[in-house]
Amino acid sequence: MAEIQLRNLTKRWGSFVGVDKFDLTIRDREFLVLLGPSGCGKTTTMRMVAGLEDATEGEILIDGKRVNDLDPKDRDVAMVFQSYALYPNMNVYENIRFPLRVRRIDPATHDERVRRASAMVELDDFLHRKPAELSGGQRQRVALARAIVREPNVFLMDEPLSNLDAKLRVSTRAQIKNLSHELKVTTIYVTHDQIEAMTLADRVVVMKKGVVQQVGSPTEIYDRPANAFVASFIGSPAMNLMSGQVTGGTFTADRVAIDGVGAPDGPVTLGFRAEDASVVEGGGQINAPIYTMELLGDATMIAVRIGGALVSVKADKTYRAAIGDMVSVAVPSDHVHLFDATTGERID
Ligand code: ATP
Repeated sequence: MAEIQLRNLTKRWGSFVGVDKFDLTIRDREFLVLLGPSGCGKTTTMRMVAGLEDATEGEILIDGKRVNDLDPKDRDVAMVFQSYALYPNMNVYENIRFPLRVRRIDPATHDERVRRASAMVELDDFLHRKPAELSGGQRQRVALARAIVREPNVFLMDEPLSNLDAKLRVSTRAQIKNLSHELKVTTIYVTHDQIEAMTLADRVVVMKKGVVQQVGSPTEIYDRPANAFVASFIGSPAMNLMSGQVTGGTFTADRVAIDGVGAPDGPVTLGFRAEDASVVEGGGQINAPIYTMELLGDATMIAVRIGGALVSVKADKTYRAAIGDMVSVAVPSDHVHLFDATTGERID
């Protein structure tokens, strides 16, 4: 059991606010991902949970017990960082066993626990190797096994995949997902990669400049972003956003006219996803020249320029056109997202 409560957790350095009133209950066995751009306060939040950073204000409770004043070693959390500090002189077996020795856990149990943890990350055949004789992905798996072997109540992972190449990142990501399913340990995972967040999380917390923007399941965040920042951060490509004017239910911007828009008259930011729009023969809501075209294999992605911004549209994989050709794009009004032109907050 490990439920983690963060109550108005705040970190300030002088007048600079790194994390501002973070307030959330992380459920027992939940996989929670902190997502946001560099410097938004993800790592600082995690370090406060770990006990590596003092909170300026607010409380951290693990299973109802206030841990603010507990040393990191007394919090029953295990951490995996992006730079996995393995002991170079110890082989894989000894590296994985190390936390058990430090914690003076009954030596009679070590062998079984090390073998179980190493099997989970498929390192059984590498136990006698030194870290220098391993690939980056294998080293990262040793770091994971070293966290697993402790059988902690809480896992904290800070960008554990960021030093891996693209292919290894995908396979290690799948392994972490599978492990979290097997181990059922409450996990906080930090990343700036929205695909990692979407694939791993039970819930995602999107942060910006120390402030939580939205908390929700990957689907909720994707389908109903709370503001234009979240909309622009989630999805690949990011949601198309354009500034324009609503008059009598019609949104207009340069080369754009969309009827049936549910916002009061006035300026608004309108968004839609590339896959919710389509290329049509004519009569579409956007009519503009093609700026660029990318063949993705399963689809053709085209982009047009609207008021200086690129607007992406996912077309059929057989679609072909030349740069500069006029294209007509259908944007169904029931798939548009509307945001306040000034605050960026979702309207509806
Ligand atoms: P990244 O993805 O780049 O690791 P992050 O979201 O994890 O970013 P944090 O490391 O939590 O960001 O940092 C949040 C903010 O706090 C940043 O603007 C950072 O410069 C600032 N910060 C971090 N540590 C300190 C410190 N010791 N003193 C002053 N400011 C700090």
